[in-house]
Amino acid sequence: RGIYRFSTATATEEVITPPVQVEHTQLLINGQFVDAASGRTFPTLDPRTGEVIAHVAEGEDEDINRAVSAARKAFDEGPWPKMTAYERSRIIYRFADLLEKHNDEIAAIETWDNGKPYEQSAKVEIPMLTRLFRYYAGWADKIHGLTVPADGPYHVQTLHEPIGVAGQIIPWNFPLLMYAWKVGPALACGNAVVLKTAEQTPLSALYVSKLFHEAGLPPGVLNVISGFGPTAGAALASHMDVEKVAFTGSTDTGKIVLELAARSNLKKVTLELGGKSPFIVCEDADIDKAVELAHFALFFNQGQCCCAGSRTFVHENVYDEFIEKAKARAMKRVVGDPFKKGVEQGPQIDAEQLEKVLKYIRAGIECGATLETGGERFGTKGYFIQPTVFSNVEDGMPIATDEIFGPVQSILKFKDLDDVIRRANKSRYGLAAGVFTKNIETANTLMRALRVGTVWINCFDVFDAAIPFGGYKMSGQGREKGIYSLSNYLQVKAVVSPLKNPAWL
Ligand code: NAD
Repeated sequence: RGIYRFSTATATEEVITPPVQVEHTQLLINGQFVDAASGRTFPTLDPRTGEVIAHVAEGEDEDINRAVSAARKAFDEGPWPKMTAYERSRIIYRFADLLEKHNDEIAAIETWDNGKPYEQSAKVEIPMLTRLFRYYAGWADKIHGLTVPADGPYHVQTLHEPIGVAGQIIPWNFPLLMYAWKVGPALACGNAVVLKTAEQTPLSALYVSKLFHEAGLPPGVLNVISGFGPTAGAALASHMDVEKVAFTGSTDTGKIVLELAARSNLKKVTLELGGKSPFIVCEDADIDKAVELAHFALFFNQGQCCCAGSRTFVHENVYDEFIEKAKARAMKRVVGDPFKKGVEQGPQIDAEQLEKVLKYIRAGIECGATLETGGERFGTKGYFIQPTVFSNVEDGMPIATDEIFGPVQSILKFKDLDDVIRRANKSRYGLAAGVFTKNIETANTLMRALRVGTVWINCFDVFDAAIPFGGYKMSGQGREKGIYSLSNYLQVKAVVSPLKNPAWL
């Protein structure tokens, strides 16, 4: 059962999780839960303790082949492609209703497998999951082509058609939100899907995909494979019958996926990759609000966000005040069992990430940055890290250039707008940026000058279903969410026929 007692000094004793059980640990292929062809399983761990939650079927090449065949059949033979767009939209709406009904159990599974605060799962992420599916359900029956004027006596129209079988590979930091960003638009556009979940967090996608079938999704339209990247993930990215692959994760793995897609059948690729997003605090900013927002921008989700505001640039005239307040805020952060009320920060996802983050902290100290607070593992059980703040960070230090993916705030000092624009843009990444100022001219200048896919002005991490998200530079290719995500899952067919009577042109 999903109720653990995990005592920490900072959280209240009240445990707020509803009881939940792991029901599905097999692969979902053609509407059925089945074992892996090899019979192998792998453990998924509770990041609070490192203990095994469940053993999950380990999908590999042969399972990907089975799932792709099922998706191919569902796409080529029906009933999915024969349904009206309105019928497809109704299935997605019904699924959203079931998500809403089971909100708290789904949130508990997500927190159990991932370690994020239960209150964040239950009040923010799962309601957002429901919202995203309603958003895409709304699109399903509004996708259509155009009538196009031609130079000659021709009737020209475009059809916007689904691509076919989409392969989707998702990470562990937001298992269900990434599921929604990918499955939602793919199904709204009429594709069939094979989704590979991250090996750290296989449980929630299996749980909700069962609900999708209860909502009326035909078998084979959505197949979910648990497994590892170099085996199941690579098999999906290189499969000859998969016509599109969408990936979220690290930039290094994104390169591999792009290469596998190119070497196999040139499938279409969208990538949502890493970031090192600047959060810029100008001299005129309300410092207390800026401190709070910069803290949220970095520490949210244990710092495990691709768009984390992980380079906090602060104007030199307010730098000292900002450091004192940022340090005080980090020291107040409530770290503990994510199932307890009031906890803001749970554990990192696994031992590998814990080690990676601690290594960056050591590198920050060795490079001469000032460790203001934190810097160590929190407790002896599970994968918790103290909220950590570095000041006097210089541009070339690894904590200023690399994606740490943990609760480590790196604060840099800047002189003027030209200085901060140049330095903020001097990164291989270009995912997002935060700008904190009361001056509209400063905001407008920064908004245009920053080479990133999203600029949040006096806010951060606002993720509406309709707002597109994606990266410049090595942060990715293409956009997800909003109207832009539909084009990732559609192709355009031009249809041309002669007009008998050109007079009616
Ligand atoms: P990753 O990129 O290796 O994993 C993401 C997904 O890709 C997982 O489903 C994984 O199984 C799959 N994958 C891995 N190797 C693959 C391959 N050869 N072919 C096909 N699929 C493959 O990320 P990770 O190892 O879990 O984390 C490493 C770092 O990546 C983190 O420390 C963080 O910096 C970054 N990261 C970024 C995001 C993001 O949202 N941009 C998410 C997770 C991790």
